[in-house]
Amino acid sequence: MFIEPRVGGASHTVKRGWIEVICGSMFSGKTEELIRRLNRAKIAKQKVEIFKPSLDKRYHDEDVVSHNANAIRSTPIDFAQDMLLLGGSCDVVGIDEAQFFDEGLAEVCVKLANSGVRVIAAGLDMDYLGNPFGPMPALMAVAEYVTKVHAICVQCGDIATYSYRSAASEQQVLLGETDSYEARCRHCFQEGLKNKK
Ligand SMILES: [Zn+2]
Repeated sequence: MFIEPRVGGASHTVKRGWIEVICGSMFSGKTEELIRRLNRAKIAKQKVEIFKPSLDKRYHDEDVVSHNANAIRSTPIDFAQDMLLLGGSCDVVGIDEAQFFDEGLAEVCVKLANSGVRVIAAGLDMDYLGNPFGPMPALMAVAEYVTKVHAICVQCGDIATYSYRSAASEQQVLLGETDSYEARCRHCFQEGLKNKK
């Protein structure tokens, strides 16, 4: 389990920032882990803001909602850049569904961290074809801490790192369709792709 290097508090006269990434496939518990860390920051009386891309309208507009319905209020924004204005005065900035943000995300997170903000971003590391997803690779490269959480393969019970799409669509972004996906291990993901051809 991830333990904060410094929750913050009075021991530092200068605010110090850093970047944490929580990545993994669908159903791996990324958002639950994000919420766990943010709740601990709140207990430490830190000022916390949560952002998500506005195109993720699956559930309520203003909540980060994970599959187990642990909700935290969040602000939907269009561009990663918007976080500089809205999150600059925070101790902690949480980002959910980070993979859907534009390529400017890593640069924005670096700016926030350099100015003393702790940034915690959760997102899919791979799309349904197993390719690195959007701004995630760049963000993982500049982060101090990268946590890869795993799901369980629904085919064989092994550790799963892939989001296998059972529906036929070829869009990279398929929202609100969690029924169309299943967590799969490397082997079962490959088998699935073979059978589709
Ligand atoms: Zn499997």
